[in-house]
Amino acid sequence: MLDDLSPSLLFTLAFAAALLLGLATRYWLATRQARHIAQHRDAVPTAFAATVPLEAHQKAADYTLAKARVDMLEMAWAAAILLGWTLLGGLDLLNQALLSVMAPGLWQQLALLAGFAVVSGLLDLPFSLYRTFVVEERFGFNKMTAGLWLADLAKGLVLGAVIGLPIAALILWLMGAAGSIWWLWAWGVWMGFNLLLLVIYPTFIAPWFNKFQPLQDEALAARVTALMQRCGFSAKGLFVMDGSRRSAHANAYFTGFGAAKRVVFYDTLLARLTPEEVDAVLAHELGHFRHRHIVKRIVTMFALSLAGFALLGWLSNQIWFYTGLGVRPSLAGGNDALALLLFMLAAPLFTFFISPLMAAVSRKHEFEADAFAMAQTDGRDLASALLKLYEDNASTLTPDPVYVRFYYSHPPASERLARMGVGTT
Ligand SMILES: [Zn+2]
Repeated sequence: MLDDLSPSLLFTLAFAAALLLGLATRYWLATRQARHIAQHRDAVPTAFAATVPLEAHQKAADYTLAKARVDMLEMAWAAAILLGWTLLGGLDLLNQALLSVMAPGLWQQLALLAGFAVVSGLLDLPFSLYRTFVVEERFGFNKMTAGLWLADLAKGLVLGAVIGLPIAALILWLMGAAGSIWWLWAWGVWMGFNLLLLVIYPTFIAPWFNKFQPLQDEALAARVTALMQRCGFSAKGLFVMDGSRRSAHANAYFTGFGAAKRVVFYDTLLARLTPEEVDAVLAHELGHFRHRHIVKRIVTMFALSLAGFALLGWLSNQIWFYTGLGVRPSLAGGNDALALLLFMLAAPLFTFFISPLMAAVSRKHEFEADAFAMAQTDGRDLASALLKLYEDNASTLTPDPVYVRFYYSHPPASERLARMGVGTT
């Protein structure tokens, strides 16, 4: 029977099957998560009964449920858009429209990438607006004004044009000029670009969106510096970022590498935690460095993208890759932008099924960083800092275990605190 099917039709069927299976899995997981949280809304779990007020627990449940409802709508929306671009002919339409006004070549292909980015961006806007100004607003997290939101959008567009277009042009040029191993060259360029971003993001890009000021609190600075020396780290500076301009969510992170490393605290985090707790949170971040998690993540990304580029190198020569996804390739060549876009659209459908593996590795790293922090600081401080952050971010304490296995990059609070010897008695 299958012999009668053309490769193009087979590929369409595989694409549709992956889309449906992925969508069904996502809905099943989201429904499980919502049901589990609703069932546990009435009482704080015993392990947290003494530390978490019922009101905070219920706010976390309501917030998680509200986000889950938006997620479910957005999944359907994203699937419809994906079908629109591919099997329903959206990408083909855009390509043919551009070809009717431009000569085939690098500029036409660049226009196709830019046109796609703008239309996709516009289609994502309703959900982005709804999340920020309805969901986050209702739970008191949103601090953005419409003006700031628009300014962010404009800056994002400028960055996309200034950074994205040249790199896209370079990759398109390689695809046309570097022969059959163009994908190896393109991979090298892409990796170089990512490494460059690691350097320029903290120093040039992030300051365009937020204010970074040296940590003023001298007692805290001395404390944090002592911790870093104890752990054998040096950093170029300790900075406080005005995260409160956009959101009440709190965070702290390490950025840069080599000598350019810097520690960034959100002002929202410093406002909430005691100096001991700030120490514990920083020690957790140092744990990620000590265990080389950052390097491991970068190496994994390098290896996965090499496989991705090699696959794209092969797929871009198969007619069925285009026709199976609703696009008419030009027989004279010059289909590189189409190949890039189709690959970006289709690949996530298949990689979705390895996401539990990536999440499991990430959760293991979190446990290792927690263990490092407990060896360097008092475990009780890390535990109380975590509980405060969970409460402030309205993170649920009762996620569905299967949902956790699939999506959670961090272990649930109950598991982390149990390992800290808190909440087990
Ligand atoms: Zn971590």
